[in-house]
Amino acid sequence: MKKEILDKIEIRQGDITRLDVDAIVNAANSKLLGGGGVDGAIHRAAGPGLLEECRTIGGCPTGEARITGGYNLPARHVIHTVGPVYSGKPQDRQLLTGCYLSSLNLAAENNLKTIAFPAISCGVYGYPIKDACKIAVDTSMEFLSRHPSLKKIIFIQFSEKDYGVYEAYLKSI
Ligand code: ADP
Repeated sequence: MKKEILDKIEIRQGDITRLDVDAIVNAANSKLLGGGGVDGAIHRAAGPGLLEECRTIGGCPTGEARITGGYNLPARHVIHTVGPVYSGKPQDRQLLTGCYLSSLNLAAENNLKTIAFPAISCGVYGYPIKDACKIAVDTSMEFLSRHPSLKKIIFIQFSEKDYGVYEAYLKSI
């Protein structure tokens, strides 16, 4: 059982905007109007249609997610989620868990089979990568056990160091 679930989890190093999947997840801010980091890279690669659609949504609270089209991206959809700014308080974990769960729920509701996540909140929002990695993987494994129709969850890291954190955690499970 656990092996079947682990087989659906893949880790990669690289640029999320290049992935040909049903949805890539954007670490957005609550206005959903673009920004720096992965958010900026996704909007640049998707083209202006993405921002136009985001404007019609009217924002997203921290810990929740919204879905749009993928426009010029190879990915069919973008799921925008708003991670917490790291504060060291217990609510960080609840909100980050909410980001993964809300994104995965949207994928399941839209009958998507493949989804890729960046390290939400681990850039300018300052979440420690080891803690965030555990939340990402544990939440995803629990979700996969309840939603067998989801075929693949990819965690893609920009840096070799962050990739190493995911590699070590998956080996330890
Ligand atoms: P946040 O504001 O949620 O912290 P950031 O965009 O600053 O979001 O960073 C989130 C993570 O995304 C960081 O680990 C950063 O290295 C990574 N990242 C930035 N650009 C890309 C990209 N093109 N593909 C994948 N990951 C990226």
